[in-house]
Amino acid sequence: MSLIKISSTFTTCDHWVAGAPMPPSSGEYRDVISPYTNCAIGKVALGDKADAEAAVAAAQMAFPAWRATPLKERAQPLFRFRELVLANLEDLAQTAAAESGKTFGEARAEVMKGIEVCEFALSLQNSDSGGITDVSRGVSCEVRREPLGVVAGIVPFNFPAMVPMWMYPIALALGNCFILKPSEKVPMTSHLMARLTHEAGFPPGVFSLLNGTREAVEALIDHELVKAVGFVGSSPVALDVYRRATALGKRALCLGGAKNHIIVVPDADEAITVRGVLDSFTGCAGQRCMAASLMVAVGDLEPLIAKIREAAALHGAALGSAMGTIIDKPAMDRIRRHVDDAEKSGATITVDGRLAQAPPASTTLNQDFAEGNWFGPTIIEGAAPHMACAREEIFGPVLTIVRVKTLAEALALEGANPFGNATSVFTTSGAVARHVADCATSGMIGVNIGVPVPREPFSFGGTKVSKYGHSDLTGDSSLDFWSNLKKITTKWSLQSDASWMS
Ligand code: NAD
Repeated sequence: MSLIKISSTFTTCDHWVAGAPMPPSSGEYRDVISPYTNCAIGKVALGDKADAEAAVAAAQMAFPAWRATPLKERAQPLFRFRELVLANLEDLAQTAAAESGKTFGEARAEVMKGIEVCEFALSLQNSDSGGITDVSRGVSCEVRREPLGVVAGIVPFNFPAMVPMWMYPIALALGNCFILKPSEKVPMTSHLMARLTHEAGFPPGVFSLLNGTREAVEALIDHELVKAVGFVGSSPVALDVYRRATALGKRALCLGGAKNHIIVVPDADEAITVRGVLDSFTGCAGQRCMAASLMVAVGDLEPLIAKIREAAALHGAALGSAMGTIIDKPAMDRIRRHVDDAEKSGATITVDGRLAQAPPASTTLNQDFAEGNWFGPTIIEGAAPHMACAREEIFGPVLTIVRVKTLAEALALEGANPFGNATSVFTTSGAVARHVADCATSGMIGVNIGVPVPREPFSFGGTKVSKYGHSDLTGDSSLDFWSNLKKITTKWSLQSDASWMS
């Protein structure tokens, strides 16, 4: 895998309103910093109430015509958008990698996963036909799916392309007008995407971008014309957004953070487990809500754990190509603090990423990554289950390993954790796999898979503090979130004695 190339172009990310860039009314911007260099690579508009008003007004203006456009016709710009994303894949992946700190390969893969959601949304024209049934003599009942109006999506930094695409292709196909609030840390990928929606032919106002931070989010939630709020980010913010939106009587679905458990039993296949655990806790430098964070080793697994240590140390020697960076300095401090505290509380750091070396400067690309946010794979062992490293989300390439004697103890630990995004088990026993799938409390379960992301049409969503609200944001389960079902009961018979119940 090659090192990424940070473009020397400085990008200004304005809002995208009514099919064109719109500067912030306050004139305020903040820098977009690449985690590879800690240098500004662009600037992003800081939206306020006035900007939110303008974005919602443009979206509301576009809504009647978009809603009246038949689904098959609404799919046409989405088809073109999919083609444009593929045609611009390199540029999108380089941009996502440069602003989020992930590797080019990871960034490319997230764009492709976003494309899958587009394809699911495109399939709705042939699958989501509603239905009509004769419910009594001369009387039929019909169900139609209708858009909500202007809806908003608020997204985190760690998947600048994919997480926004979990929402807008489906919401747009269903006839809503969508306003995206990207993470202020990674607005550049969405900036490119907005241009592609325009090139694809979405009418002005159908897709909009409102940049900024909390002020922009709250202005969107509070606007009376915003009918639904999809959110992905940390659990405390997810809960705040959920409470604020639902207190106003709005529909909200807010996905939060995670502390994903990987349970390994003695009959697990060694090679598959080592690879699965390593990929899960080091992929995207541990900054994904599906990353393994706690490995629960059941019984004697010492040889397998030794191999995981070895593989993690090797991975740490290839920073920049095998693994990218941490998003920013505060995140570096948080991760380091977790590891330091675990050590102070008596745990042992058997692979130590705190001492990570930056990859060598690339003479071919003329790039120097010495100032990047490098943190290598880290393994904490001998931690007690009550310690923060075993219970809290760290959101970095840190794996805590806890040893237990029985599968029941492993499941009790999993069940006691407040998060419920993903749980995996590595085993060659069907009975064990089935038992874990039955008893684990997370919304997404993996069997011999460390990152059990469901693919369309299966939907993505956790349980407990990893999700506030009902249904999921992608796949079949998302349809009811982004739409209303209208039921039409018609008496076709003109016989006056044929009643609704006849
Ligand atoms: P974050 O919660 O800090 O930010 C998410 C979004 O909310 C951003 O757009 C941000 O601008 C906005 N925001 C931040 N503080 C806010 C506030 N007080 N009020 C209103 N809006 C606010 O999350 P992050 O650091 O960008 O992303 C990492 C987190 O996201 C991790 O906890 C990770 O587990 C979680 N995540 C969850 C999923 C999932 O599907 N469950 C997917 C990706 C990331």
